[in-house]
Amino acid sequence: MKKIKVTFEFPPNGIKQPLTYHLIKDFDLMLNILNADVSLNRTGRLVMDLQGEEEKLEAALKWVEEQGIAFKLFEKEVIWNEEKCIHCGACTAVCPSGALSMDDKTWNLKFDQEKCLICELCIKTCPLGVMGLNGDSLFIDSYRSE
Ligand code: SF4
Ligand code: SF4
Repeated sequence: MKKIKVTFEFPPNGIKQPLTYHLIKDFDLMLNILNADVSLNRTGRLVMDLQGEEEKLEAALKWVEEQGIAFKLFEKEVIWNEEKCIHCGACTAVCPSGALSMDDKTWNLKFDQEKCLICELCIKTCPLGVMGLNGDSLFIDSYRSE
């Protein structure tokens, strides 16, 4: 089993595709939608974790590409240097996914890696450089060429 994090980018007429249905039914994938920005007749964006057999993941991404839906795979992860964190909370104000939050009892920062969209806003916001990427680039590839 392999798990990947991927962003799908829909053309304006592409949201009619029952994408999640096909990913589950045709490719036996488990999915967890992390962020969705989809409206009728507008380009859309869907970020999700996909988990399944490696060959089925590859087949699913190939099928997605054939439907005219672009995608990008996340390679890197956001890392939190907890020892240097002063728990000021500034990063929680910019985190769009709720991956960063303050513990309501200790008022210490909590980081839920599973919810992270790798938007990098916390990295730009943290005054101490406590948040970072475990590499230099956000995406490994964009399989679709226009
Ligand atoms: S902004 Fe930086 S120092 Fe402040 S809570 Fe977030 S990670 Fe910690
Ligand atoms: S990169 Fe930082 S701000 Fe963006 S979703 Fe992940 S934890 Fe939140």
